[in-house]
Amino acid sequence: MTTVADTERIPMVDLAGQYRRIEGEIDEAIRSVLESTRFIKGPVLVSFEQELADYLGGRHAIGVASGTDAIQVALMAIGIGPGDEVITSSFSFVAAAEAVALLGATPVFADIVPGSFNMDPTKVEPLINERTKAIIPVHLFGQPADMDAFVRLGADHDLFVIEDNAQAIGSTFGGRAAGYIGDIGTLSFFPSKNLGAFGDGGAVLTNDDELASLMRAIANHGTLKKYHNNRIGVNSRLDSIQAAVLRVKLRHLDEYQRARVAAADRYDALLSEIPDVEVPARLSDRTHVFHQYTIRVKGGRNERDRIAAALGEEGIATAIYYPVPIHELEAYRSDERRAADLAETLRACDEVLSLPMHTELTDPQITRIASRVTDLVRL
Ligand SMILES: *Cc1c(COP(=O)(O)O)cnc(C)c1O
Repeated sequence: MTTVADTERIPMVDLAGQYRRIEGEIDEAIRSVLESTRFIKGPVLVSFEQELADYLGGRHAIGVASGTDAIQVALMAIGIGPGDEVITSSFSFVAAAEAVALLGATPVFADIVPGSFNMDPTKVEPLINERTKAIIPVHLFGQPADMDAFVRLGADHDLFVIEDNAQAIGSTFGGRAAGYIGDIGTLSFFPSKNLGAFGDGGAVLTNDDELASLMRAIANHGTLKKYHNNRIGVNSRLDSIQAAVLRVKLRHLDEYQRARVAAADRYDALLSEIPDVEVPARLSDRTHVFHQYTIRVKGGRNERDRIAAALGEEGIATAIYYPVPIHELEAYRSDERRAADLAETLRACDEVLSLPMHTELTDPQITRIASRVTDLVRL
């Protein structure tokens, strides 16, 4: 007999549920922008940028139009262009590689550490040559990459380090806020991110005054002052309505992060002893803000896909981040680089399964998901 609870659909994210709890605050914040008509570069953006930097304990935060633009603006600020190489992870969303390629430079892919899914610094070092200009570690699924090692590599080889922190806002490495450890950090406010807007948005982070003013200018047509454009820039700004939404949500971010970590703790308790399932590694020198709760299903792609399909039939959403490594996507296939050893990246693509993870998940939902995963892996 199926009960009502057994047929309830469980989505990957529940943005409507999250909105309902803060509806009054959000509507008021949006209305105030509508009444001010200061839609671009208004005072609400200035306030949000300051509050964001203060929240993270950093010096500068500059709003831009998306997390992908944030990476592009960062790369433009450090002068990346044709002939340059930038090392990043192939086990990630395409944004970093895309921004590098768009500027005419070459993304070079290093393999990951199997436990954390983050780029492996020991695999980066052999890829560094005279054309290498920067490294972009991605703090995947909510847990920072090994920033001590990347900062050291940057210093040893005179490379910029840009942290793609789209998935790990508020996480720390060695007590320092992710995004402010390298030269520049980038954030995405894509709606489903831990701090999500009601549309696209992003930010660049830095403690360096010069890079900050350079990036502010680049994101604003290459100028800080109208008709004094002294460099080629882009039009990439965080609009006031998004900034107003984000200001409200920033006040709730601690509580959102606690809800995610509590959900992860509960999943861990139910899944960590299950053979053929590997729960996410949590490394001792850093915090994890669980943008995703991503397990590995042993047995390879067919087994993982079988379990995902069965969960889907029962109304339990899952997602595969990422099914195809970037170096195998049509636009990024590069013969020269395919020879590089990306074995752990390929294995992760075959084994990962992200379970529902959001601020509105309930204990009974997590219990049901975990028990169905447990039953299915045993089949
Ligand atoms: C979401 C995301 C981005 C890009 O963010 P957009 O705001 O969608 O442009 C970049 N990198 C990673 C790892 C992401 O998850």
